[in-house]
Amino acid sequence: MMQIDINRKQKLYDMLSVLKLISLLICGIVIFTQFPENLYMMSWVSNTIGNNIVALNFIGFGIFVLICEGWLHSFKKDQIEQVYNISSLIESVVFMAIYTGLICISGFHESQYKFLYLFIIIANTIQYGFNTGITTAVISSVAILIIDLLGYKTGVNKYFEADLVLSGVFVIMAWLLGYYVKLENQHRENTLHLANIDELTGVYNHRYFQNSLSEHIHEADKSNKVLGLLFIDIDHFKYYNDLYGHSAGDVVLNKFGEIFKKNVRENDVIARYGGEEFAIILPDTCEEEAVEIGNRLRDAVENTHFEGEENQPNGNLTISIGVSCYPIKAKNKKELINTADDALYRAKFFNKNRVESYYSVLEELKEDIDEKHIDLISSIKTLISVINAKDRYTYAHTDRVVIYCELMANHLNLSDNDRKTLRYGAYLHDIGKIQISKDVLNKIGVLTDEEWNLLKTHPENGAQIVRTVTALSEVLPLILHHHEWYDGTGYPKGLMGDEIPYLVRILSVADSFDAMTSNRPYHKRKTYEQAVEELITCSSSQFDPDMVQEFIRMLSNNRNMLDLN
Ligand code: GH3
Ligand code: MG
Ligand code: MG
Repeated sequence: MMQIDINRKQKLYDMLSVLKLISLLICGIVIFTQFPENLYMMSWVSNTIGNNIVALNFIGFGIFVLICEGWLHSFKKDQIEQVYNISSLIESVVFMAIYTGLICISGFHESQYKFLYLFIIIANTIQYGFNTGITTAVISSVAILIIDLLGYKTGVNKYFEADLVLSGVFVIMAWLLGYYVKLENQHRENTLHLANIDELTGVYNHRYFQNSLSEHIHEADKSNKVLGLLFIDIDHFKYYNDLYGHSAGDVVLNKFGEIFKKNVRENDVIARYGGEEFAIILPDTCEEEAVEIGNRLRDAVENTHFEGEENQPNGNLTISIGVSCYPIKAKNKKELINTADDALYRAKFFNKNRVESYYSVLEELKEDIDEKHIDLISSIKTLISVINAKDRYTYAHTDRVVIYCELMANHLNLSDNDRKTLRYGAYLHDIGKIQISKDVLNKIGVLTDEEWNLLKTHPENGAQIVRTVTALSEVLPLILHHHEWYDGTGYPKGLMGDEIPYLVRILSVADSFDAMTSNRPYHKRKTYEQAVEELITCSSSQFDPDMVQEFIRMLSNNRNMLDLN
């Protein structure tokens, strides 16, 4: 339920509570006006505050109202939900019994208080709608007419005639009010629909997604369940728009909305997150199942024919999907969105048209590290998120370098231990950049000597951060030496040739290749072919020539898997 809706229902509930309390107050007045002598008999009370009937009535009402107020509030949640359930039924029966009892003691069929039923008719109609309102009105009408018939002795039953009119008023009142409530509810639903739905695609919009995700996380916490999240991005959509124009692109976006709606479950929430990005909330869904749903959507898109898709770079309109899961992969909403987004980024990197689950080297690292150093993982996590905020490039860059290093580890058939060390090193190699300002990291143009010297401190700073952790002792050289050059002109130590550890030489090529093929504020990316050329040119000076050869071999073996262009 949206907050705005909860507020509205809360106010409505408060208003109805006041209405019911007023009716009970009237009942209290009736009781005390019918039996004032009873109060005088309560001598211990009259001794204390004197024979003041007004004061006694007042105390009586006060206690009565307090009891009723407590009682009304005990049903609060159900009342706000606006479903007529057993507690609502008990409430209606109690109110009607009080009114009926009062009518009986205040003159039976001659009573002037038959109008009291109006209170419960109005309250039930506003709160539960047309049908409940009419039902309450009919029951109230029958009640007063039965009282008339029971009280009737001889002659003309003039009360019955008058009460027939009153019954008519009850029903008409419930009908009119019920109809108005129905219209108002429809109007509210239409307005909410307009406010929550993305017009172009027919799925929910970004605002609704954000609210809904918060609510689903809350629900998952309460019921101890998991929650899956898919982030979906159309591959090469700019290309399609550029080729056929935005209105053709809009038709495609609409069709995507239809495909997604057809292929998810009833409780899943599909939203358009932004331009050509969608997000799907999967309640009570674990990671494997979310990946399965993702693959189902990917297949459905791949098997749908879109006008002119044959001219797309891969001959087909496809989607990439990132999957994350709460609370296993993310501890809160922000992390859930970020991890799904990271997974999507990974899917894009692996040549698109695929589903990728969020994965972090840090989680793996956590399992390998001693209990006493576990806090360091949290600190590293914080450091990485600070670096991410400062410089999105470094963060994404790290992820890509990990992927290149994993591929190299497979290619060179490294031992499990080396593979792990290389992966951790790839992940942590730029961690020392935390101490370098955003302005230096993102500077367009040439760095001053001072800035350059500052930037050159990041391998040593990084090594300093992990120095105390024994489990990372093998990773430390990768952080410290990833800017050493094969010819000995690198930093910080000026190591040369085989003095540079083997794994560092792999990392160094992967790191530089990714830097060359990424756009940075200060330089435009090279194509993969240009970057390969550059690696060859810098063989023996910057890089180990054997490692360059192996890296190029690895790239060509994985050409189909990587998005190389
Ligand atoms: P990638 O495979 O990496 O996702 O490439 P891409 O071209 O899909 O990605 P990019 O994010 O560069 O481009 C997104 C494009 O989506 C840009 C814009 O042309 C298109 N787009 C965004 N919103 C709309 C929209 O409302 N209607 C249409 N027709 N196109 C949109
Ligand atoms: Mg996009
Ligand atoms: Mg796209």
